Amino acid sequence: MQAFDTFNPPTRLLMGPGPSNAAPTVLTAMANPLLGHLDPSFIQMMEEIKSMLRSVFQTKNEMTFPVSGTGSAGMEFCFVNLIEPGDEVVICINGVFGMRMADLAERCGAKVIKVEAPWGEIIRPEQVKEAVAGCSPKLVALVHAETSTGALTPVETISQIAHEAGALMLLDTVTSLGGCEVNIDGWNIDAVYSGTQKCLSCPPGLAPVSLSPKALETAQNRKTKVQSWYLDVNMLSGYWGSERVYHHTAPISMNYALHEALRLILEEGLQARWERHHQNHLRLVEGLKSLDLGIASQEGHQLWQLNAVTVPEGVDEATVRQRLLADYQIEVGAGLGPMKGKIWRVGLMGESSQAKYVDRFLEAMTTILKGS
Ligand SMILES: *Cc1c(COP(=O)(O)O)cnc(C)c1O
Repeated sequence: MQAFDTFNPPTRLLMGPGPSNAAPTVLTAMANPLLGHLDPSFIQMMEEIKSMLRSVFQTKNEMTFPVSGTGSAGMEFCFVNLIEPGDEVVICINGVFGMRMADLAERCGAKVIKVEAPWGEIIRPEQVKEAVAGCSPKLVALVHAETSTGALTPVETISQIAHEAGALMLLDTVTSLGGCEVNIDGWNIDAVYSGTQKCLSCPPGLAPVSLSPKALETAQNRKTKVQSWYLDVNMLSGYWGSERVYHHTAPISMNYALHEALRLILEEGLQARWERHHQNHLRLVEGLKSLDLGIASQEGHQLWQLNAVTVPEGVDEATVRQRLLADYQIEVGAGLGPMKGKIWRVGLMGESSQAKYVDRFLEAMTTILKGS
């Protein structure tokens, strides 16, 4: 019989579109002994997670908790709970994740009205205004930070337009949360989801979500049952709320990890954390200049935590990425869709957003591109 060795992963510096590196104490938190999912100590910790999540999302929403699953599970949670067959939904698409939202809304039976911008650019408020004028939307959905292109779309005006049209506003904050300002109550967002693996310095596995009282009411007063048993908020709230009834077994160790990750974020301070991401982005852009490399996404709306670095003429994008990984243990991402082969996606997310890592990446790129 074949014998297998224990798996020992190499140590990589994760500077791609996610996952990013986890904070060391987040990883040690995961090695703690398991508790039962109804253990009073675990329940106490769940309460702390909800409270810390409200601080990080900047919301007072009671219905704020982590869904079991990755960021996409958070996306699915929002759509399956809020959408019923025949609903009109405006989806803003300027990259991969807007396309995923449109796919999900269609699977829920929605009539999807698409608002599209070229990849790398932001969604303009006038586009949304035009779209909502032509239908009676139940929901407007927007990706805050498009990880596939490196563009950050301003949210406030679009949210205002959605509400004036009588719609709920849904926001994807998978890559923005913990890396730049996210203000759920200040921006009047009704439904939001995120993921642990981008700027929260935590492994993939949980999707923090939050629903406003209005969104929750929408989910509670549906004509039809939520199509997903696993993601039905009416059942999940029985476990994450005060009743504590069993729905599915919470991923215990992942919740330990998220607790520690959120604790670290609040210890650092939201403003200080955003500023760290900003400064390391500026350091990267400055260093790239001396290599004659620029950022491909729209000027003035470039993400700090995900940099779409332009591949110069005559350079093979994939070869550079492979050398970064093989020779320097650095992972960066490739371009997707229309940006395939044209950009490298360099993530400076959470624990991976550090000046020393920016410098290590720039040194490696200098050697690879200048040849030696
Ligand atoms: C990564 C990402 C997702 C999906 O998250 P997974 O953890 O891969 O399921 C959704 N939206 C955005 C903007 C992302 O960057």
